[in-house]
Amino acid sequence: MSKHAADWIRPEIQGLSAYHVPDPGEMIKLDAMENPFGWPEVMVEEWLELMAQAPLNRYPDPQAGPLKQRLRHSMAIPETAELMLGNGSDELIQIMALALAGPERVVLAPEPSFVMYRMIGLFAGLRYVGVPLRADDFSLDMPAMLAAIEEHQPALVFLSYPNNPTGNLFSRAEVETIIEAAPGLVVVDEAYAPFAEASFIGDLGRYEHLVVMRTVSKIGLAGLRLGLLAGPSSWLHEFEKLRLPYNINVLTQLSVDFALQHEQVFAEQTAHLRQERAALEQALAARSGVEVYPSRANFILLRVPAGRATALFEGLKQRGVLIKNLHNAGGLLRDCLRVTVGAPQENAAFLSAFDAAWADLA
Ligand SMILES: *Cc1c(COP(=O)(O)O)cnc(C)c1O
Repeated sequence: MSKHAADWIRPEIQGLSAYHVPDPGEMIKLDAMENPFGWPEVMVEEWLELMAQAPLNRYPDPQAGPLKQRLRHSMAIPETAELMLGNGSDELIQIMALALAGPERVVLAPEPSFVMYRMIGLFAGLRYVGVPLRADDFSLDMPAMLAAIEEHQPALVFLSYPNNPTGNLFSRAEVETIIEAAPGLVVVDEAYAPFAEASFIGDLGRYEHLVVMRTVSKIGLAGLRLGLLAGPSSWLHEFEKLRLPYNINVLTQLSVDFALQHEQVFAEQTAHLRQERAALEQALAARSGVEVYPSRANFILLRVPAGRATALFEGLKQRGVLIKNLHNAGGLLRDCLRVTVGAPQENAAFLSAFDAAWADLA
């Protein structure tokens, strides 16, 4: 019998490349939608005291009851909705994919969107169907979406609201039409809700097959890894069976609960970033040859002159600024770059590095 990995690892896994995260070194990091701001010193002191008492010898609370209550309150999740926590929303995507996978089962999402929908779908053995967004403004191509839903009868539909990596917020009415047309589960992924100021949380009671996913990553707690899923208990009760019992560690439970007791700090930071986003959009739009797509998230998608994206990306890197080059993803993202909205000095550094890299192109 063969003992070679290549004879045993599923071919579709061998065909994938691992999710690549570049090493930022000392660069200004504007590639991953992180919040650049720290905490007030008193808050750090208070948190350290809490951490000093954390019972690390004990397994975490498997239900994370107090944290769930805090999140429910903080995110205005209706009492009628059930709540499930994940080690980042990535883990929740994985749990849903595992629960819904089966022969001929399909996961469907607009394209381009969050790459994990496709990747995790493939890990779980689902067939992925991507439906191109409209080329001019990345809005939903409704005839194509509805035709694909009709044809493939997806078990799972993901809608990133707003969409990563394009930054736009799909039309609420169109999302509702998709929810009504979908035969299986629809996941509205609201990773950027605090920047979008739009949500389907309030719609949870309206549909039997709608769940809303959130994360604390983009508001400034990416290092803690906490995502949440809100929706009908008929779905979440089943998903709970796949959740590993202690998936949310002691430090994360205590730290997120603590952070949300200081919600005002995060609300001010996200408001500040929304202002910075407007300023950065304006500054970039003033540069001729750069197309700026309006964003409802904490990043901005740009299209640069044909064939120049990689040179600009590298030029920025040489000047100590790391953003995301989407050109190699191809399709509608050809010639596109994505920059996370940072702190004022970071955005200024990005703009001057961008201009210098641009000048080098000539
Ligand atoms: C960042 C992001 C996530 C992942 O969030 P984690 O909770 O950090 O795993 C999910 N969905 C979208 C659309 C994102 O951009």
